[in-house]
Amino acid sequence: MPSYQPPLRDMRFVLHELLGAVEQLQEIPAHAELDASTVDAVLEEGGRFAAEVLMPLNQSGDREGCVLDPATHEVRTPAGFRQAYAQYVAGGWPALSTDPAFGGQGLPHVLNQCLYEMMNSANQAWAMYPGLSHGAYECLHVHGTPEQKAMYLPKLSSGEWTGSMCLTESHCGTDLGLLRSKAEPQADGSYRITGNKIFISSGEHDLAENIVHLVLARLPDSPAGSKGISLFAVPKFTVAADGTPGARNAITCGRIEEKMGIHGNSTCAMDLDGAVGSLVGAPHKGLAAMFVMMNAARLGVGNQSLGITEVAYQNAVQYARERLQMRSMSGPKAPERAADPIIVHPDVRKMLLTARAYAEGARALSLHTVLLLDRELAHPDPAVRAAAADEVALLTPIIKAFVTDNAWLATSHCLQVYGGHGYIAEWGMEQYVRDARINMIYEGTNTIQSLDLLGRKVLADNGKRLEAFGKRVAEFIEEEGTDAAMQEFVNPLADLGDKVTQLTTEIGFKAMGNADEVGAAAVDYLRIVGHLAFAYLFARMAKIALAKQDSGDPFYTAKLATARFYFAKLLPETATLIRSARAGAAPLMAMDEAHF
Ligand SMILES: Cc1cc2nc3c(=O)[nH]c(=O)nc-3n(C[C@H](O)[C@H](O)[C@H](O)COP(=O)(O)OP(=O)(O)OC[C@H]3O[C@@H](n4cnc5c(N)ncnc54)[C@H](O)[C@@H]3O)c2cc1C
Repeated sequence: MPSYQPPLRDMRFVLHELLGAVEQLQEIPAHAELDASTVDAVLEEGGRFAAEVLMPLNQSGDREGCVLDPATHEVRTPAGFRQAYAQYVAGGWPALSTDPAFGGQGLPHVLNQCLYEMMNSANQAWAMYPGLSHGAYECLHVHGTPEQKAMYLPKLSSGEWTGSMCLTESHCGTDLGLLRSKAEPQADGSYRITGNKIFISSGEHDLAENIVHLVLARLPDSPAGSKGISLFAVPKFTVAADGTPGARNAITCGRIEEKMGIHGNSTCAMDLDGAVGSLVGAPHKGLAAMFVMMNAARLGVGNQSLGITEVAYQNAVQYARERLQMRSMSGPKAPERAADPIIVHPDVRKMLLTARAYAEGARALSLHTVLLLDRELAHPDPAVRAAAADEVALLTPIIKAFVTDNAWLATSHCLQVYGGHGYIAEWGMEQYVRDARINMIYEGTNTIQSLDLLGRKVLADNGKRLEAFGKRVAEFIEEEGTDAAMQEFVNPLADLGDKVTQLTTEIGFKAMGNADEVGAAAVDYLRIVGHLAFAYLFARMAKIALAKQDSGDPFYTAKLATARFYFAKLLPETATLIRSARAGAAPLMAMDEAHF
């Protein structure tokens, strides 16, 4: 059975030593009193909850799955999930970073991100129930009417109610402009919504007394396509004037999906048969309103993959220390034993270090980005807010796609470390591979993320956001350019920065002649820019580690070794990716469709 140690040391390193998070947050009036010891105490308690309460339910939840009662349409979650959720609510965790005006504790989002990383490591399927609530909370907080906020936010914040996100229909996932669910306005100002949604995570369950579904549907006079979609809040139980749940609403779960992983999370087909809802935001602007939830969820999905990479890595290391097979090629390392532990073999180390570097790079990038999100949402200076918003917009698709693609590779490597035992359920590794796979698909497939990055976030704004990020990188290179010890990091970083600029210009020109050039290059491009972001952060982490490597704390020598591994063995992938991106659309489009 896998085990899990919350990576508190690395979280503290990233927050305090790399990012100076507390100082940055103190510029925000609401966090002026925040101190490092509060941050550390929250991380420690959150880690304990994840490791002691959620982790023991991960394998059993996977085996047991969720069960639908077709007569009542109620869903039973695996044994222990309800009790764990009750403990989560009693501990006040759902309110960690919600608004004090609605019962929240008002702590920074970056702390919530750390909490979720640990909950995802311990049990991704369970963590999706509160995770979707948090997204629904954010969406209503921005776009809800005062009545909707008063009705829903305190309950979502306390965790008494949960949320869901109802977008997908059987004929439309990526292209939501095709959706057919209908909303009929009623004389009392409410709406009756009818349609069928599929694949709705946490759409029905037994953890909370009510579920607030955020549903996309069309008003009768709506324009065709994505400009004609509106957003509605549709509670499972309609809400009485005093805020208590009233009658059962006509939104029910008709089926739960049999699927590859995350079995402990209910993936529901939801039937709406004139369900009562209220409009969220302006008519026909539902997709824009939903983007608040989708952007939060995209960062959340990257965080799921970070969590899984970390726990898979920890267990693979433990196994590699204990499993004895063959002798080291450079001579026995444990001559007193029948064979050497497999951790002596170079390729086993490569697999472990790949997972480690992907986890540490993802943690640095995610916390850097969510710290910017805190500044975007609440910094007193509008210029700081605007710059932070631009960088968050640029980095969000990278976190969603780069981190989840990496987790798929990393969990597969970690499984491989176990040899045949990795393929056997008892060890828990095959579950991590299965669970990690969905993260590349939902919340917009990784291809869609790459189109968002290259098409919308880079080319459509003439590279301004990318330039601003490039400036951040260039300033660091300038500062460190004269330090001999930093050359091994700064030179390849500078080289990649130049190549990204060149490649972006080249694709931009080609795209003017043929828009398919964007689609042909986008996936490679996202991975290249993902590496640029990782290389920048690893170089900064290496700088700190170099300064402290003689401190006697092995953390810094390990950090330096990981950074060196990243630059030597993972970053060079960008050369191949650049070649592939430059090859353009022709090799993809030349084949006649009939010949596939
Ligand atoms: C377990 C699970 C949980 C989910 N949870 C939720 C949820 O809570 N709420 C919700 O609303 N939905 C949810 N989804 C749905 C999920 O978001 C969609 O499956 C996803 O967005 C892809 O849509 P699709 O399945 O229709 O694939 P399609 O849109 O049909 O895409 C098929 C393939 O075509 C590619 N493609 C499509 N368009 C383009 C293009 N323009 N350029 C290049 N490639 C393209 C895609 O990348 C993909 O590889 C969930 C799905 C699963 C499996």
